[in-house]
Amino acid sequence: MSHDLIQELIDKAESDLLHLSDTIAELRESMSHLMEQNNQLKLKNQELTDIILSKDIENDVLKEEDSILIENKPSGRDRLQAYYDDGIHICHEFFGMPITSGEECLFCNKFLEELEKRDSSKSA
Ligand SMILES: [Zn+2]
Repeated sequence: MSHDLIQELIDKAESDLLHLSDTIAELRESMSHLMEQNNQLKLKNQELTDIILSKDIENDVLKEEDSILIENKPSGRDRLQAYYDDGIHICHEFFGMPITSGEECLFCNKFLEELEKRDSSKSA
């Protein structure tokens, strides 16, 4: 193999690698965007389920599986805490965005604290 050919192959490999690296960065960004959307849909879906269930309670048209859901239903705060523990921002600032592992969000913590205060003043 001539030196020129080897040099040409190295150049091509280097350019392919750079291209691949760009593609990976694009994929990473798309995945992060999709995760964020998925999280937002999850939270929205839960909110809508709650609204439907509370309407059913008002209208007294509960199905058997609804009653089971309600009996085992965690409080809104507990559920948001669970989402936060699962690594999803529940604060208005970054709603639905994934939390980098080990990271803490001051906005989320403050929001949970406020909900805690509201819950405890309600039950007192
Ligand atoms: Zn947050």
